[in-house]
Amino acid sequence: MTRLVIRGARLLGADAADLLVEDGVITEVGSVSAPSDAQVLDADGLVALPGLVDLHVHLREPGREDAETIATGSAAAAAGGFTAVFAMANTSPVTDTAEAAERVLDLGRACGLTEVVPVGAVTKGLEGAELAELGLMARSRAKVRVFSDDGHCVHDARIMRRALEYIKPFGGVISQHAQDPRLAGREACCHEGEVSGRLGLPGWPGIAEESVVARDVMLARHTGSRVHVAHVSTAGTVEVIRWAKAQGIDVTAEVTPHHLALTTDLLLGYDPVYKVNPPLRPSEDVEALRAALADGTIDAVATDHAPHARQDKEHAFVDAAFGMLGLETALSVVSDVMVRSGLLDWADVARVMSTAPAHIGGLAHQGRELAVGSPAHITLVDPDREVTVDAAASRSRSRNNPWHGRTLRGAVLATVHAGRVTHDVRNGADGAPTRRGTERELTNATTTGADL
Ligand SMILES: [Zn+2]
Repeated sequence: MTRLVIRGARLLGADAADLLVEDGVITEVGSVSAPSDAQVLDADGLVALPGLVDLHVHLREPGREDAETIATGSAAAAAGGFTAVFAMANTSPVTDTAEAAERVLDLGRACGLTEVVPVGAVTKGLEGAELAELGLMARSRAKVRVFSDDGHCVHDARIMRRALEYIKPFGGVISQHAQDPRLAGREACCHEGEVSGRLGLPGWPGIAEESVVARDVMLARHTGSRVHVAHVSTAGTVEVIRWAKAQGIDVTAEVTPHHLALTTDLLLGYDPVYKVNPPLRPSEDVEALRAALADGTIDAVATDHAPHARQDKEHAFVDAAFGMLGLETALSVVSDVMVRSGLLDWADVARVMSTAPAHIGGLAHQGRELAVGSPAHITLVDPDREVTVDAAASRSRSRNNPWHGRTLRGAVLATVHAGRVTHDVRNGADGAPTRRGTERELTNATTTGADL
């Protein structure tokens, strides 16, 4: 039997307690006398949260292993406090078959650092024309429940309707990347407004998102099925979701850390690190997103972690790839933006970064209360630690990190996945989370493990 004692953690930021974990399950909470064979994690002063769950990551494997692999992405996830991540289907080949989904599942299990849950494509090849094998993916070993053409919008209303009808019997959900291609085409890369005009960049108006979300919530009502809105970016979308929830429509939504914190004016320097889809929005939208996350209109934080190799990202702004890293910094951004301001407390963070996303994604064993009988997926956070983000220190294979050089308050110190410590910054020389030596060692250890 493997035993782990977590000593003195403040559960959801409240009272301190010890946790005894045996063979991956929490078996005692309170004052625990450590068995002699137990590994002990000192968590004095740290906040214990249920392991974080990310509904939206891009791990690039198969197809673009130069940008990220399931191994490096898993290491980044563990470092960020995540015990489960949903890997989007826009790989090469696309995850649009049962075999492809099972392969992602198996690669994730082989790494063992975090649970890697495959998202299935809604349409074959993400082409928007023909439904993918939704039922076969759902019945596969991967038990796919979340389907998304993310990167592309399921813009054809008839396809969206049929997909919603198809997934309803097995409790699936369509995660929609809402972008009307006629209102915001592939070239659209800057919030449409003053900044896009000044910079001469193709505009991406909020209405391209809002009109699709409005249609989708009506389709969800019509079909009695379930829709999830990926990366909500505008105040108008928040209004639509708020209205839909008030009608009892089965809709959930996520917001990214970058849309909670970064604004359009960052694009003024044409730095492609800030190019992301949907684009960064003005401060009025950012304020509305924060309020919506606080009042529950937006259910979850999801990173949209999107690693890109240098040759794809370091271009003139219009030619660079969309997307930014997010796994390792998500908790720190949420802590800095939402907890310090008093908009969320740590129990709320547990809800929006663990319980709600686990529920939306259908993971019954994740996002559980830190109580006897729960699987031991646990994230330990130092709420006061200031971290200055160093892009070079990332476990990710890519370096497109918009948080580089920023100082954020609140950091993940350790992660326990299925009773195993998958990350502990204090094992490093001086415990500083961004120290390069520590990161390198961890990356090497991970790579070696994955090669086995
Ligand atoms: Zn997307």
